Amino acid sequence: MKEFGYTSVADTEAALAALREQPGTRLLAGGTEMLNWLKEGIERPERLVDITALPLRDVEPLPGGGLRLGALARMSEVAAHPEVVRGHPALAESLLLAASPQLRNMATLGGNLQQRTRCPYFRAETGDLPCNKRTPGSGCAALSSGETEEQALFGWTGECAATHPSDLAVALAALDADVLAEGPRGPRRIPAAAFHLTPEQAPPERHSALASDELITAVEVPGPAPLSHYVKVRQRASYEFALVSAAAVVEVEDGTLATARIALGGVAHRPWRLTAAEEALRGADPEDGDAVYAALAQDFAAARPLPGGSNAYKAELARRTAVRAVRDAARRHGAASGTTPEGSDQ
Ligand SMILES: Cc1cc2nc3c(=O)[nH]c(=O)nc-3n(C[C@H](O)[C@H](O)[C@H](O)COP(=O)(O)OP(=O)(O)OC[C@H]3O[C@@H](n4cnc5c(N)ncnc54)[C@H](O)[C@@H]3O)c2cc1C
Repeated sequence: MKEFGYTSVADTEAALAALREQPGTRLLAGGTEMLNWLKEGIERPERLVDITALPLRDVEPLPGGGLRLGALARMSEVAAHPEVVRGHPALAESLLLAASPQLRNMATLGGNLQQRTRCPYFRAETGDLPCNKRTPGSGCAALSSGETEEQALFGWTGECAATHPSDLAVALAALDADVLAEGPRGPRRIPAAAFHLTPEQAPPERHSALASDELITAVEVPGPAPLSHYVKVRQRASYEFALVSAAAVVEVEDGTLATARIALGGVAHRPWRLTAAEEALRGADPEDGDAVYAALAQDFAAARPLPGGSNAYKAELARRTAVRAVRDAARRHGAASGTTPEGSDQ
């Protein structure tokens, strides 16, 4: 591991100044991603700036029932916060179904959003496999000859087909949340659904809309959204990344869907909103699985499994996962919501 400097800062201005002053400076929050990157050679910073002392850890109510979540709030704190559990259960579930209790106690919301893909070629310990995300211009080992079962269905190109692994990002996209950032050009509000970038939108090495001299300060979630639910499908019941996932946020009137918002995880390098289905589902019975499945047809017609079809199963899996997320979100109508999802390590 390359030697690097370390400093800690106490306010946002000092963090931004540190990013500006020395090239090769990287922010350190919970360190649960950064430490792996240092060991694997994915990051070789000149200096780490510890931001854990910044006053960005609170969960605060917003007028109208929304929430402002500090970027340095720990995943476990947010998942257990009574206002999150009551008003935004999909958010709590997405956090509880991620990683392990120890990781969630250290990991922050800002760090979760800025985590990188779990594509095995990006993460290769040797670091010498072709990966356009890790070494721009080197190629894509997955697309040329490699493992493609877990790669993207939407938004991929011949340069990269990696997916983004954040569970939180999927819930935030369905909740219509915003990521708040500060930088030398002033404060910015980025819709959570547009925070991560596919290789269709930007070169593969660019993974989010955040610039390298910017800091995430908070996430704002409008709300409340008590009829919301997050479903995660994975190879084992806990401590595993999603093969696919779905977050649904609905409103129910007279037993039918007045509105529905759905985001998928594990199918692209950003949460994938099912915008056609969201229109088609108005007036549908959420208990009628066949009707909800049919309403998803237009969005899934755009799915592009990789050549060879090794990840084609994800289209059917994601579609059925979305049906379940919509149904179970709607079932919260009139019921007290609880958030100890199956498979969480609680
Ligand atoms: C074994 C394992 C399993 C995991 N499983 C899951 C899972 O199932 N689902 C899931 O969603 N995640 C999972 N994760 C990822 C985990 O959630 C992230 O590691 C964690 O959220 C990162 O947060 P951190 O505070 O530790 O970030 P750090 O490691 O400190 O930083 C990560 C990145 O974020 C940047 N950063 C941190 N804070 C800010 C900020 N405020 N503004 C700008 N940039 C910032 C850092 O500069 C760095 O680039 C897993 C991780 C591990 C190691």
